[in-house]
Order: sequence, then C-alpha cells, then structure tokens
Amino acid sequence: MALFKNLWIWSIENIRKKLNWYYQVSVNKKPAKYLICKRLKCDINLKDSDEKQLWDEHERLSEEFLKLFENVKSCKVNIKDIEIKKPSFLDLKVEITNRMLKSCEFCRWNCKIDRTKGEKFGTCQLDSITRVSSYFHHRGEELPLRGTMGSGTIFFSSCNMRCAFCQNGDISTDKYNGIPVNSKLLAQMMKQLRLEGVHNINLVGGEPTIHLHTIIEAISYLADCDFNYNDHSYIASAYADYFKYKLKKEYAMYEGEFNVPILWNSNFFMSEKTMKILREVIDIWLPDFKFGSDKCAIKLARTPWYFETVTRNHKLIYEWNENFLIRHLVMPNHVECCTKTVLRWIKYNMPDALVNIMYQFHPDNYCDPFSKKFDIRYNIIARYPTKEELIEAYNYAKELNLDFIVVSFDKFIKNLDEEIEKIVDEVIIYR
Ligand code: SF4
Repeated sequence: MALFKNLWIWSIENIRKKLNWYYQVSVNKKPAKYLICKRLKCDINLKDSDEKQLWDEHERLSEEFLKLFENVKSCKVNIKDIEIKKPSFLDLKVEITNRMLKSCEFCRWNCKIDRTKGEKFGTCQLDSITRVSSYFHHRGEELPLRGTMGSGTIFFSSCNMRCAFCQNGDISTDKYNGIPVNSKLLAQMMKQLRLEGVHNINLVGGEPTIHLHTIIEAISYLADCDFNYNDHSYIASAYADYFKYKLKKEYAMYEGEFNVPILWNSNFFMSEKTMKILREVIDIWLPDFKFGSDKCAIKLARTPWYFETVTRNHKLIYEWNENFLIRHLVMPNHVECCTKTVLRWIKYNMPDALVNIMYQFHPDNYCDPFSKKFDIRYNIIARYPTKEELIEAYNYAKELNLDFIVVSFDKFIKNLDEEIEKIVDEVIIYR
C-alpha cells in the first residue's frame, strides 16, 4: 500500500483531485460507497412492494445517500458510528435488479424479455446465469488503476454490442466462455483479489452491464474479510494470474469492514435505470467512448442509439461529480469521424475530464485478416492506426486542451511538455 501511495502519478494535482474519492477508498482512508449504502434503512417491505414503490424508495434513499456521502467525504461523519441496517439501500438495489431481470432493461436495447426463464434471448444472448471468463491482477490498466499490485479485474462473458474489432472477442462473442458463478462465488473472487492486494475491483467483459443482477448482489455480500476456502477450488479454475499472493486482511480493512473501490469498466450502453442503480455503488467509472456517430456505431458495432445513450451516461457521471476516466480507442480511418467528434464532444460537455486516448488498437476479431473470423466488410479497419493518424489524434486533443497526456502515456512520458511526435515514436515501437 505504501508503494501505491508513493507512485509519482499521485503527485500530479489534477490526477489526485479528479480521482480523489477512488484514491481514498483504495488506501482504506474512506469506506467504499457500498459500505455507506448499508447504513441506509429501506423503509418498505421488499417482497410485497410493486415496482413503482421500489423505485420511489430508491429515489428517497438516493437523496439520503448523497447527504451522508458528502458528510463522509468531508469527515463530518464516520460510518463506524452508524449501524448497518436491514433491509438496507443495498438490499433494495438487489431486489430491483432481480425484478429488472424478469423484463430486462439493463441496457439500451430494452429487450424486455424474462431472462429468468431462459426461453427467449435478447441481444446479449444471456439468461440469468453469469459466467466469469477469468479474474486476475491486471498490470496493463492506467497507472492509477494498476498501481503496484494490479487492478483486480473480473472478465464477464458476452456483450450487448457487436464491435467488429473487439479486442476481447473470444470473451464477448462466446456466451459460454468461462465458469458459471452465482453472486456468492463472485463475491469470493472480489474478496480474494482485494485480500491479495489489488487496488480496485475492475468489472469488465464482454460487458458488466448485462450481469448487473449478479454484480449488485455480490457487492451486497462484501461485508467481512472471511474468505471461504471451500469455494476456492471451483473459482480457481478461472483465476489467471502468473503469481501467487498471500491473502492479507490489512489490504482490505476500513474500520474492521471489508473495503475496496468498485470500478465500472463498460461500453456505457446502459439504460438510465441501470445508471441509477450504479450511482451509489460505483467508486470510479471507466467508460468507453468509441464512436462519433450512430452511423459508425451501426457500421462497426451493429449498435443503434449509440451516441444519444453514451453521451447521456457520460453527462450523468459528470453532473454527479463522480471520479471517472474516459477511454477512447483511436481506430484506423476513423480519426475524423470518431476520434475528433468524440474529443470535441468531451471538450464542450465535460471539459476537465481525464481522457485516455488509446493507441492500442490492433486488428482483432472480425478485422483480423489472419483469423478465420475475418469479414471483408471490415477491411477498412483491418490494420493498426498509422503514426500519422495517432499524431493527428493527439495533436487535436492538445489543441482542445484536454487532460489526456498523463493517463494516455504513463508508460512513456518523461516530462509533461514532451513533443507528441516523440512520444508516438516510442508508442509505435512498444505496440
Ligand atoms: S442486458 Fe440488454 S441486451 Fe441483454 S437482455 Fe437485457 S436489455 Fe437486452
């Protein structure tokens, strides 16, 4: 933990300020949001209430949460002085997400099918079962996330988008990838990773949104630090780390309770209801912002309503004053239509956002000319972005005065005034 606290990136004022809540939870100086949710009493009978009553209560508790959250942030209140309630705000969220599953509206597709029956399938192709492809200490995320011990990443199977270039195509296009887990097993994975020292629980895929019910219920089980070794032989089959770590309670304790920041690493194609559920649970958001128009989203990801949905969700986290870091992947032949439009939108709508403009695009999934899956329709992006395209993208972000240099180039920069061209030269060798 001391090594994480002393990382050079925390001495950069902007980063520390914009990710302050996440940092404080990660080093156990503050409780994760889910621990605050547990202190708020849900005043209705969960089983007997209809959907409207549940959401009205959610609205009320959300307001209560925000007041308490502000007091916790400013150290006016210590949650150890407030007892845990039953049922709590978190229990209410579990009930709502389980009901949502019966007429699924987790994401913008709004399929309204009953996923508990497993008879009809929506765009994500899932019933109620959640599968985890792998979980491990991710050492490739941005420095504030990977830190010194890694980001505790859990890869969920399947997706609600169809990005032809998906960089995790084996996971996102195969709904049977991985092992089935219920919420208790998923909670064990989260506990294991945190007790091994990770700085956050990074929920990704595929796409986490389509597993909302399992994730919220798993988080509701993160009450103590007890790790159930009986479950370990099963979940270990999805554990994909090179190293062995000792489990240490000191990594995870806030005033005697299990503590870890929850990170939502998503395509951001969620419904507004899902955003409401997540607001009081997610400590740091890692949204993808891929396409500058619905035309490109349909062409490359077969996803309509993309721009209106993803911009709405970005605006929400900005208005809510959340900790977040936007990711935009530079795609070949899409600098003008996607990269520049996305960056302009960020400039005019969330001007001080932290943005990782990613150079990591490689031809994958249906865009990989060497793969059996290759589809000639995607020939236009079946290559790496050129040096000129990357320079164009980064210089444009610089012109817009966006905050992107440190998080995009944390592996390369030696000083903040370094020329973009020089950094891109290094990036190209690295990739
Ligand atoms: S998660 Fe999205 S794609 Fe899947 S069934 Fe629900 S609304 Fe449809």
